Amino acid sequence: MKVVKFGGSSLASGEQVKKVYNIVTSDPDRKIVVVSAPGKRNSSDIKVTDLLISCADKYLKNEDASDIFGTIIDRYHSIAKELHLSNDIIQTITDDLLSLLNGDKSNPDSFIESVKASGEDNNAKLIAAFFKHQGLDAHYVSPKDAGLLVSNDPGNAQVLPESYERLYELRKKSGIIVFPGFFGYNETGEVVTFSRSGSDITGSILANGVKADIYENFTDVDAVYAVNPNIVDHPKEIRELTYREMRELSYGGFSVFHDEALIPAFRAGIPVNVKNTNNPEAPGTKIVNERENTNGPVVGIASDEGFCSIYVSKYLMNREIGFGRRLLLILEEFGLSYEHIPSGIDDITVILRQNQIDEKLEDYIVKRIIEDLQADEVKIVRNLALIMLVGEGMRQNVGTAARASKALAEANVNIEMINQGSSEVSMMFGVKEAVEKKAVQALYEEFFVRVMV
Ligand code: ASP
Repeated sequence: MKVVKFGGSSLASGEQVKKVYNIVTSDPDRKIVVVSAPGKRNSSDIKVTDLLISCADKYLKNEDASDIFGTIIDRYHSIAKELHLSNDIIQTITDDLLSLLNGDKSNPDSFIESVKASGEDNNAKLIAAFFKHQGLDAHYVSPKDAGLLVSNDPGNAQVLPESYERLYELRKKSGIIVFPGFFGYNETGEVVTFSRSGSDITGSILANGVKADIYENFTDVDAVYAVNPNIVDHPKEIRELTYREMRELSYGGFSVFHDEALIPAFRAGIPVNVKNTNNPEAPGTKIVNERENTNGPVVGIASDEGFCSIYVSKYLMNREIGFGRRLLLILEEFGLSYEHIPSGIDDITVILRQNQIDEKLEDYIVKRIIEDLQADEVKIVRNLALIMLVGEGMRQNVGTAARASKALAEANVNIEMINQGSSEVSMMFGVKEAVEKKAVQALYEEFFVRVMV
């Protein structure tokens, strides 16, 4: 049995939905189809999920939302029209959305959650209607009926372990199941969504629950590329990755597959195949437990910007027991989550996403660290980019860091910091955002283009 998930761009128009139908029907093992909400049809388009969030926001503020409501319904309508579906399905979607929007707003978070999740929920109904219209034995299944229970953490739900056993029951259902991605229900029966792009997570949970043979994740690229194609033209496609490599790359900035989506599939040992809806014959990228190490130490290079570092220096820091804990305690007090902590004898740097800290908070934190920890120097540096070199092969290879720093030096890139994770699957370089592209291009050249002698 295969679980297949289709992302928003694969469902953005009737033409795309027909491709989805062809993919599903070309393989009788494709029994569970997880769908996103309609995504962008072109780069200037707006995702239905974003429209829904704005619409819910307007309702909360008692502002006129008729335009945006109309735009949302039009999106479904144009898809249904292209697929020659009757107006019944549009009526169902309109009624559902209206009843959500006019529903209880006493808890704004939970109101937004249910409106936001309706994008996938109604799209799943539409896709099921189309499959039926084509003569398939297909059914929409609600996450509530299937028992997909999640924690009560709006916009960041985590699956509850008891879900898996319940989801196993889906195996008994006949025909094709069309299942909305992106959300589950908390213990009191309210909708709670995963983090953005979370339909990948639903697919992985379902694959684990039904003990699928494979989880196929259909998107709009032929494969996971070794580097961001917006930075390097026509980068190398990656054929095979381990779960850990994919997790590191997704975390490092690869958006093709959600970084939280690997765990459920990994726990059940289910391989993931990232494929292209627009070119389903292409082999795509397989994510597996172990791979043959044939292609050098580095499998991919991810990069992301928007980081800042808090540099703290104090003479004899290495001898002061509890220094690190007290520093992190200050960050915890402000609800700040950190990403990396490279350290030296007398200094430590904490790297965080900078959108968590505005200037006022920055001043306050610096003052607190100086006062509470009697630090000699505290400095916050903004606008950093983190570049991750990822590859299981780095473990067996000597000299990867040397090659990387040489390539960066030759490109005249100053390295602000280096951190090698203890797993040795990734190596992180912090650079100024302004030189991010140049740095990534130099590293790509070194590890993927230059032939070693
Ligand atoms: N539609 C949701 C989002 O835009 C979830 C998804 O597409 O996976 O984040």
